[in-house]
Amino acid sequence: MDFERAASVHPAAMVDPFGRAIRYLRVSVTDRCDFRCVYCMAEHMTFLPKAELLTLEELDRLCSAFIVKGVRKLRLTGGEPLVRRGIMTLVRALSRHLVDGALDELTLTTNGSQLAKYAGELAACGVRRINVSLDTCDSDKFRAITRWGELDKVLAGIAAAQAAGLRVKINVVALKGVNEDEIADLVQWAHGGGMDLTVIEVMPLGDVGEQRLDQYLPLSMVRARLAERYTLEDIDYRTGGPARYVRVKETGGRLGFITPLTHNFCESCNRVRLTCTGTLYMCLGQEDAADLRTPLRASEGNDLVYTAIDEAIARKPKGHDFVIDRRHRRPALARHMSVTGG
Ligand code: SAM
Repeated sequence: MDFERAASVHPAAMVDPFGRAIRYLRVSVTDRCDFRCVYCMAEHMTFLPKAELLTLEELDRLCSAFIVKGVRKLRLTGGEPLVRRGIMTLVRALSRHLVDGALDELTLTTNGSQLAKYAGELAACGVRRINVSLDTCDSDKFRAITRWGELDKVLAGIAAAQAAGLRVKINVVALKGVNEDEIADLVQWAHGGGMDLTVIEVMPLGDVGEQRLDQYLPLSMVRARLAERYTLEDIDYRTGGPARYVRVKETGGRLGFITPLTHNFCESCNRVRLTCTGTLYMCLGQEDAADLRTPLRASEGNDLVYTAIDEAIARKPKGHDFVIDRRHRRPALARHMSVTGG
């Protein structure tokens, strides 16, 4: 397929009540995952009955409706997107929007466990870069964090992705007492392998049967510690996401920080999130949501869907108010990250 971007007239962006242009849709294609990361899921999760999921065709129709409304970047996530049965059918279908220039980027966030199998096909569909979540390079610790994951499989997946020509960014959730000693080494490893790395603060999403307070590590502390080993130079680089980047002088690589708690980034939020049941969340950290499945199924045309999307964007809140402290031992939101899509 020819992925040279066709010249096209871009539809105007949707604009929310705070003047933010919404160009970015993240889609959780399944709430299921083959890992059970301790900060993300409880060990015994109840997943949605399959009958409640949108079909791949319906997901394609909804994503395409958002593209008509001005979305230019689409990220598939989950749960684990690559465990959704038939996922490549959806990726192939969505890649037509890259070919005709309606979409700038189709990408995904993955735990990497299935990448060895799918990397080549993802690249062939026009995916250019992916995010891989990896919190440690110690295989015992990896098993302890993910409960079910195998580090070797993920490393093989990353190698396959790079061999297929995909740019890989590593996402690391900073966990107090778990990987805080290792973050500097992870930076060295990622940058040595030609990968950017972003560190993320753990967010109070979903009851995971563990105390958040025990996991929470402010990135101000991570950064101070990294600064003991590396020279961190502020740079202007932006990916359209919430990370603030520095260049690590010693490695030459980029290092991002996503700090929803110590410094929220809502003023530049350009995104909304669709779940696998067709629920649209206008903010990762708020309960308000819009049902798009009902208008989607109500008629073959998309007019009802467009109206529902417009109404939802008009309600996008100013921001979230995550907090993790001793007075807030319950999650800010009952919803797990795997539902809304991290
Ligand atoms: N399975 C895929 C993966 O592992 O990347 C995609 C979904 S996962 C929910 C997306 C990202 O959210 C991962 O980087 C994960 O570490 C992160 N995540 C999950 N729960 C989180 C939480 N409570 N706080 C911060 N990040 C979280």
